[in-house]
Amino acid sequence: MQLTNRSKEVSNKQMTLAEKMYLPAIAQGLAITIKHFFAKKVTVPYPEVKRYLGPVFRGHHILKRDEEGRERCTACGLCAVACPAEAISMVAAERKKGEENLYREEKYAAVYEINMLRCIFCGLCEEACPKQAVYLRHDEFVPIFTERDEVIYGKDKLVEKMDARYIRNNPDAQATPTEPSYSRLSS
Ligand code: SF4
Ligand code: SF4
Repeated sequence: MQLTNRSKEVSNKQMTLAEKMYLPAIAQGLAITIKHFFAKKVTVPYPEVKRYLGPVFRGHHILKRDEEGRERCTACGLCAVACPAEAISMVAAERKKGEENLYREEKYAAVYEINMLRCIFCGLCEEACPKQAVYLRHDEFVPIFTERDEVIYGKDKLVEKMDARYIRNNPDAQATPTEPSYSRLSS
């Protein structure tokens, strides 16, 4: 009984001179190599090119601004409570007069930190947030880090960057620092 259809009958045929010099085998090997030059590449030159990982991928967190460029987070703490890894810490502060263009609610997170060594990218913080403030991006990885200090992501790395759209809707933002120096819980 034949176990596979790939079996070959052994023949005692004498090899030609070319076969003895492996020329057909070398030509076959070269043909396969050349064919791969023109085949669709299966690798991407990361980090210059980032592969799309699909809508369910959860990467770098972002603290969103609203359509006027104000921070959405109201420091309610629900994301920290929902976080199974206890990775989120924050310090709430009260919005002062004149800061209405910076913070959407009367209370905001003066400090908001995520410990990326603890985070398991489950997305529960995103689901718990009642203000649509925290999201895990589909298109950005958390970069590698080599120092323990780098694993604590503060507002400087989390808050969505102020873009032209916000500045246009909110002319006062021109007078305020678009990338303020945020406080940290730990140094
Ligand atoms: S993704 Fe999960 S583990 Fe990471 S901060 Fe959010 S809730 Fe915590
Ligand atoms: S990100 Fe959302 S859930 Fe977390 S403190 Fe801010 S408003 Fe509350």
